Amino acid sequence: MAKLKTRYIDLDTMASYLKSAGPENVISNLIPYLEEDYINWEDFQKMPRTAHHNPLGVLELMPIGNDKIYSFKYVNGHPENPKHNFLTVMGVGLLAEVSTGFPLLLSELTLATAIRTAATSVMAAKYLAKPNPKKMALIGNGSQAEFQAIGFHHILDVNEIYCYDIDDKATEKLISNLQRFKNLKLIKCNSTKEACKDVDIITTVTADKKNAIILTPDMIEPGVHINAVGGDCPGKTELDSKILSMGDVYVEYEPQSRIEGEIQNMDENFKVIEIWNVIKTKKPINRDINKITIFDSVGFAIEDFSTLRFIYDIAKKENLGTEESLIPILDNPKDLYTLLK
Ligand code: NAD
Repeated sequence: MAKLKTRYIDLDTMASYLKSAGPENVISNLIPYLEEDYINWEDFQKMPRTAHHNPLGVLELMPIGNDKIYSFKYVNGHPENPKHNFLTVMGVGLLAEVSTGFPLLLSELTLATAIRTAATSVMAAKYLAKPNPKKMALIGNGSQAEFQAIGFHHILDVNEIYCYDIDDKATEKLISNLQRFKNLKLIKCNSTKEACKDVDIITTVTADKKNAIILTPDMIEPGVHINAVGGDCPGKTELDSKILSMGDVYVEYEPQSRIEGEIQNMDENFKVIEIWNVIKTKKPINRDINKITIFDSVGFAIEDFSTLRFIYDIAKKENLGTEESLIPILDNPKDLYTLLK
C-alpha cells in the first residue's frame, strides 16, 4: 500500500541533519547501505546515465531500480560555474515504490552527493588500498574535498593529507574548514608532484572539462592506491593513460565507465574489474604490497539509490523534513478532473 504523502528533504534540513549527526558519522553509516546494494548488484536493472552535454558542462539523469524500489538523481557538472557563483555539482533525487510507482521521497542531493562520493571512495579504498593507510594526497580542494578528507580520516584513520589545488584559496578554505579534526594534519603543497610523494593513497577530485593530466607515471610510487574521482564525463579525465597500465583498474559499472571514466582513453579490450565483484567477497583484495590499484570512479546510480534509501530511513526514524502532497489520492482514481471542480 502506497504512502499518501511524499517525504521532502530540503537543503536546510539536510544541512542541519549533517551538522548534528556529524558528516563523518553519516559517511560511515552510509557505507553499509552502499555495500548491501553492491552485494545485491545482480538484482538491479542498470543503465549508463543519460547525459545532455554542452561546451560548458553536462546535465545528467541517473535511474536505477530493483523489484521493490526505484530511484533517480538529476545532477550536473559545470567546472566553470564557481566563476558565476554556482556550484560545479548540484543535485536532487527521488525514491519511488516499484509496485505502485508512488514517489516516497524527494530530496536535495548536492550535500548528499558529496557525502555519497566520499563514502564510495572510502568503501573502495577499504577493499583495494594497502592495509592501514596513513598518508593521502588530495588533489583538487573544491566542494568535494572536505568530505573526502573527513571520510578517509574518520573511517580509515588516514591522519596526514597533502593538499594541492591550482587555486591557493581553495586549499586554504579546506584547511580552515577542517580545523576541528585535531588528529588530522593537513599540509598545503606547491604541486601535485610534491603532494604525491610518499603517500599511500592519491585522491584526484579536480574539475576541468578537458582531458587534463593531473597525474603522470613519475608521481606514482609502488603500492599506491589511486582514487580518481574528478574524471567523470566524455573528454574529462585526470590521469595520464599510461598510469592505467601500471596496476589493476576497478570501475563501478563498466558500460558507463567506458564512456565517462579514465578508461575512455583506452581501447575496448582494456581489462577492468567491476567493484561489486570485490565487495561481494566482503574482504579486501589479496594485495601485493607493491601493487598499484586504481579506482576509476565516475559515480553510478546505485550509490544514489543507497543514499536515498539511507535518507528515507533516517527521515522516518528522526522525523526529518516534511510530508507533501505531490500526487493526488482520490476517492475515484479515474476522476482526476474532480480536482478542478
Ligand atoms: P569544484 O569546482 O568545487 O572543485 C574543483 C577544484 O579543482 C577547484 O578548486 C579547482 O581549482 C581544482 N582544479 C582544477 N584543475 C586543477 C589542477 N590541474 N590541479 C589541481 N587542482 C585543480 O568541484 P567539486 O564539486 O569539488 O568536484 C570536483 C570533481 O569531482 C568534478 O569534476 C566533479 O564532476 C567530480 N565529481 C565526481 C563524482 C564521482 O562520483 N566520481 C562525484 C562528485 C563530483
